[in-house]
Amino acid sequence: MVIQRTFRRRIFTNFFVVFSIFTLAVLGYQYDREKSYRTGQLENKLDNISEVAHRYIEHKKIFETGDFKSLDTLKSLLPIENTRLTIMNMDGKVLYDSFVADVKHIENHLLRPEVQKAVHSGKGSSIRVSQTTNQKFYYYAKNCKNYVVRTAAVYNVDIIKFLKTEHFFLFFVVFLFLLMWILLHYTTRRLSDFIIKLKDFALKAGLNEDISKMDSNFQDNELGVIRRQIIQIYDNLKTAKDELTGEKEKLYGHLQVLKEGISIFSPEKHKILANSHFIQFINMISDKSTISAEHIFSIPEFSKIVEFVDQYRGQDIQAQHKELPQIEYTIEKSEKFFQLRCIIFVDKSFEVLISDVTRPEKQRLLKQQLTSNIAHELKTPLSSIKGYLETLINNQSIPIDKQRYFLEKAFAQSERLTDLLNDISLLNNIEDAGGLFEFKPLMLKPVIRDVIENLKSRLTNKNMEYRIEVDNEVVVNGNESLLFSVFQNLVENSINYSGDNTVISIRKYLEDDKFYYFQYADSGNGISEEHLPRIFERFYRVDYGRSRENGGTGLGLSIVKNAILLHKGEISVRNRVEGGLEFLFSLSKK
Ligand code: ADP
Repeated sequence: MVIQRTFRRRIFTNFFVVFSIFTLAVLGYQYDREKSYRTGQLENKLDNISEVAHRYIEHKKIFETGDFKSLDTLKSLLPIENTRLTIMNMDGKVLYDSFVADVKHIENHLLRPEVQKAVHSGKGSSIRVSQTTNQKFYYYAKNCKNYVVRTAAVYNVDIIKFLKTEHFFLFFVVFLFLLMWILLHYTTRRLSDFIIKLKDFALKAGLNEDISKMDSNFQDNELGVIRRQIIQIYDNLKTAKDELTGEKEKLYGHLQVLKEGISIFSPEKHKILANSHFIQFINMISDKSTISAEHIFSIPEFSKIVEFVDQYRGQDIQAQHKELPQIEYTIEKSEKFFQLRCIIFVDKSFEVLISDVTRPEKQRLLKQQLTSNIAHELKTPLSSIKGYLETLINNQSIPIDKQRYFLEKAFAQSERLTDLLNDISLLNNIEDAGGLFEFKPLMLKPVIRDVIENLKSRLTNKNMEYRIEVDNEVVVNGNESLLFSVFQNLVENSINYSGDNTVISIRKYLEDDKFYYFQYADSGNGISEEHLPRIFERFYRVDYGRSRENGGTGLGLSIVKNAILLHKGEISVRNRVEGGLEFLFSLSKK
């Protein structure tokens, strides 16, 4: 394995270099010691020779006689072979030299370093290459008061000799070196084995493999501690990751149940997450079928968001959460209203929220329309009442029967006003406070009977017949007064608009586990098809004049529809083939 080899080699080389330097240093030190020891020995010998020569000169009184040649007899007696003996006076003039017969031509020796030292401090030595023999000499000069005795021996304290003489020491060092080498080899192998194990361990941890069951053959030393630390860090990371995943899943689950479409994007406009509503909404907003959330940036309806995000791209956002830059606007697409919102976070990632505000938006528009409709509807009876009363006040001479006529008319208009207000309030209650109506199991037949009873005289006046095919078993979960209103409005409409001699029928035609299905029909003229889709709208009348004549408010069928919806049912209307109008509706059993 590459890592193992490099690592081992590196440790091994480092140790090897350090140990080699150490060995060489020891050898160098030993060599130096040996050299100074030998030099000392040599100097000692040369000093003895000088002393011998000095005594000989003194004894034979040679300095006085000048017979320096007689010193030649000493040559053979000297302990070191080839020792050069030179005698010079205190001015440096050579008086005798054992190597040179004619000393007259020898140059003055006063400036020789060893001679200088001897003249000034009694004795001196120097190692130099001899100009005569080209050999390295150890010169030793001694001051003998009237003259200087200088001895010189070939200087050969060299490495070769040293190596020759220090056999044992060298063997010892080499042995130590080899021993260290083996030890080093063994130690680095062990160390690299541990490191490799540790590396495998860390790699497995990095790959998210379960490391707790891995071979734990780590000794209880620093490596063991590292292993334990890795496990600890791994465990901590795993726990943190698991917790994060859990939180993320929770968040994601939460996002999925939200009614809003939500998606979060990175600053580079890459999707980080999007819930299913988001995908559904962008598919509704986009003209082409979209799959991915990233597609919103090419949908024209989102261009404001793209501009907004691009505008903040290069800017620093240092805002508290509540002050984060955001944009909000409403768009309309295929009769639906969507509110789009974009919030940019500090790290430039951003969130796009889409809410379907169709219902509230439509309701808002409807309420707006309704308010103006109500105002309009109220104005008509009110201005009539005002007109009648004004006439009465301004014309006191009006005959009494005429006065009564005006008062009756005003009263009728006030009745109409009351009806209108009652209907408006009932509708508002159904819409906004549906929960306040009490629902309980209710037998439907008596309710229908009461309605018929209530309108019996008017039915008779129009020579109308009725057929009720709802038996006593039909029990719905309902509110009595609302259901009364439903049938009252339907039957009243038939009385008002179906014409004379018609037949009304109320029939339960089907039932299933949850619902009863009813048909309400009359045999009148029905409604021309173009009006049919709108007749459940508030204040919508086919024939305004006729409706007013009959005291209609234009709210009857709206009340019917909303009451049925509050009963969890549905209602539709159509013209019957055989003539007349037919309503099909369902009412919940439970
Ligand atoms: P209104 O107070 O005018 O009766 P509704 O909402 O009850 O208001 O009815 C809306 C319109 O539908 C009526 O104005 C009428 O023109 C028409 N209509 C309702 N019921 C019938 C019916 N049974 N036959 C013919 N037209 C009807």
